[in-house]
Amino acid sequence: MNVLEVTDLRKHYPIHAGLLRREVARVRAVDGVSFHIAEGETLALVGESGCGKTTVSRCILRALAPTSGSIRFDPGQGGTVDLATLPKRALRPLRRHLQMIFQDPYSSLNPRMMVGDIIAEPLKVNGVPAAERNARVLELLDLVQMPAVARTRFPHAFSGGQRQRIGIARALALNPRLVVADEPVSALDVSVQAQIINLMLDLQDRLKLSMLFVAHDLSVVRHVSDRVAVMYVGRIVEVAPTDALYRAPRHPYTETLLAAVPAPDPMRRGRQMKASGEVADPAKPPPGCAFHPRCPYAQDRCRVERPELTEVAPGRWASCHRAQEIELTGVA
Ligand code: SF4
Repeated sequence: MNVLEVTDLRKHYPIHAGLLRREVARVRAVDGVSFHIAEGETLALVGESGCGKTTVSRCILRALAPTSGSIRFDPGQGGTVDLATLPKRALRPLRRHLQMIFQDPYSSLNPRMMVGDIIAEPLKVNGVPAAERNARVLELLDLVQMPAVARTRFPHAFSGGQRQRIGIARALALNPRLVVADEPVSALDVSVQAQIINLMLDLQDRLKLSMLFVAHDLSVVRHVSDRVAVMYVGRIVEVAPTDALYRAPRHPYTETLLAAVPAPDPMRRGRQMKASGEVADPAKPPPGCAFHPRCPYAQDRCRVERPELTEVAPGRWASCHRAQEIELTGVA
């Protein structure tokens, strides 16, 4: 059963100019994105800064209104709702089922509130009685491996990793159906990143979480995701089960992202292409395949004909004209 089904999602920003405010260009931040998340599954949405992944997550949370497309969400009450078109008032009761873990643990916690009140806030908003709230806060602190005494302290008393644990506890307070984690470890030191990833693995195991894990590179999502969707200039260019994508990518852009992943044994990595050049401008994407100016495998056809996302093997999708003929290198 799918908790989330996103179909042909678009978020465009028209640019107007002149006295008549005519549309002169259109930034296609998200341009026809489709994916699903099954119950208990973690999907990683990965791509460089500006690829549209954060816009996708903000559309799901309705912090942004999509231009078109549907976002069907199953809140677990029998039937699904389309978050893309639901009026804001109707969204409010659904918020408890859809929670977010923020990127920056320093700015996402109110410095004037004690940790216990921060974690209890969503419970309070949803009418949970005080006695139950206190018991639940203790349970949640234990779940994220923080001491009970933390509830009477303020966020500044804690390190970045501990603050992220508090943010995770708050996100889990209402047992949400879906958690959107927006780069939850990118603001942390590498050693602390590993601790938070381990905590998330533990929580996935214990709570069977369904999660959209947004990240800018492939180095952090390998162990935390079941499948990976790679985005480039507003579109998904590859979707695959995590292990398969790391071992043998089917899109050249995925191969370049994998080139940045530290290899356990660099001697086994072999030839791996690194893309040159800048990410394309979503207001003026190149014709044909948007990746062609950076792609070491580009041919004439790539410069004029845009490849569609097609199934290249069971459960594996890629948008590349040459997905079936070129052999790309993954990581061991
Ligand atoms: Fe490279 Fe062509 Fe594939 Fe685009 S379609 S990724 S340019 S080989």
